[in-house]
Amino acid sequence: MSIRLHSEGAAGEVTGSKHVLTIDGARCLIDCGAFQGKREVAEEKNRALVPDPESLSSVVLTHAHFDHCGMLPLLAKRGYRGNIYATPATRDLAGVVMMDSAAIQARDAEYLAKQAAKKGQKFDWKPLYDEEDVVKAMGQFVTVSYERPLPIGDGMRIELFDAGHILGSAICRMLARDRSGREVAIGFTGDLGRKNKPIIRDPSPIPPVDYLVIEATYGDRLHESAADAMDMLAEIVNRTVKRGGKIIIPSFAIERTQELVYYFHMLTDQKKIPEIPIWVDSPMAINATSIFQIHPECYDEETHQAFVRHHENPFGFNSLHFSSSVQDSKRLNDMREPMVIISADGMCEAGRIQHHLMHYISDQRNTILIVGYMAANTLGRRIKEREPEVRIHGDFFRLNAEVAEINAFSAHADYEESWEWMTTLDLERLKKVFLVHGEPESLSAMRTFLLGKGVKDVQIVKYGERYEL
Ligand SMILES: [Zn+2]
Repeated sequence: MSIRLHSEGAAGEVTGSKHVLTIDGARCLIDCGAFQGKREVAEEKNRALVPDPESLSSVVLTHAHFDHCGMLPLLAKRGYRGNIYATPATRDLAGVVMMDSAAIQARDAEYLAKQAAKKGQKFDWKPLYDEEDVVKAMGQFVTVSYERPLPIGDGMRIELFDAGHILGSAICRMLARDRSGREVAIGFTGDLGRKNKPIIRDPSPIPPVDYLVIEATYGDRLHESAADAMDMLAEIVNRTVKRGGKIIIPSFAIERTQELVYYFHMLTDQKKIPEIPIWVDSPMAINATSIFQIHPECYDEETHQAFVRHHENPFGFNSLHFSSSVQDSKRLNDMREPMVIISADGMCEAGRIQHHLMHYISDQRNTILIVGYMAANTLGRRIKEREPEVRIHGDFFRLNAEVAEINAFSAHADYEESWEWMTTLDLERLKKVFLVHGEPESLSAMRTFLLGKGVKDVQIVKYGERYEL
């Protein structure tokens, strides 16, 4: 008779979230994310997946980011036939994310095979999964709305609460009962969001738990307030328009892009910026935006007030344009007037954003606006650090455009915000906190911080190590 926790990903690092709760031998997997980072290392870890997928009893998905849902198709491919529990919005967004990954893998395989053939090398790399596997995984979803408790098997009951991270994101509270009748409540935060994010609600308080598995991405950092983002955005747009320039925003397709669209809609309505064209130039962002549109059950009160009550769509207004075809995208570069172009990918490493940068980076009238994390050794990081010259597609370009930054967009709680959310828990009942999803420095900073706040026991989760609950 036992209840045990261990992690097969996002332990001592931020990607590959996979946490396993074992109750008398029955295993429930919370998230099945992809590892990201150096190609060969990530590939090897992703192929390892989890042991015996076919014998898992259930899977819960907290949200649709790739590092949380990305390996579900591989799980289905390797024989998992059980349910995947998630909110309806998470299911829909995860579909877009997983399909996108299958398409990228197929393209990579084709490209690499051609390169190898040219050099006369042997080539046997195969994608981890394909579109068929994504379809299989999509068929296994069982959607659960927020705060609808649901038994998911012998001795397991889940309830999902809004995590305030991205559309549909959830904190999972699990009640686990072993054969002796002992019951424990465990909270899995998934990625914990922040207050005052546009569109979505704030992270929700949850009923008492005995154990908490919490993320610590920003265990050692504090953010700018999310409420200031809109004013900063208006200022940057106005000064660029005055110069007759364009605003280029590298952005990931999910959440950040829709937040930006929402802010531009508000700013245009309130006449805080002139009515200039706002272009969303990324096929995946366009798909994701249509999913945002059909999930008003995830909107916060402000969004309801501003749009839904007036029968308006927060993600559609006169100055907003979507370019889905490559021709459309190229045509943007012939247009002379000031405009905003939002395009992927968020770190400028691939995709259409690179073409826009090649066109606009050397003209001092333009602004490149950084709204997200730029990892080391990416083009985005080199722009952020204002290197005088950057290389794109093999050619060098002078960086003459203004580089502006807004840090208030982060979707993860910093340590103060995490603590503020934790104080809504019954801290007397809380026996132990498990820290996951953080680099080593932020995990240890978060541990010290929580112990300082009087939390009794804080464990930094180690990959594969078993913890008795
Ligand atoms: Zn996330």
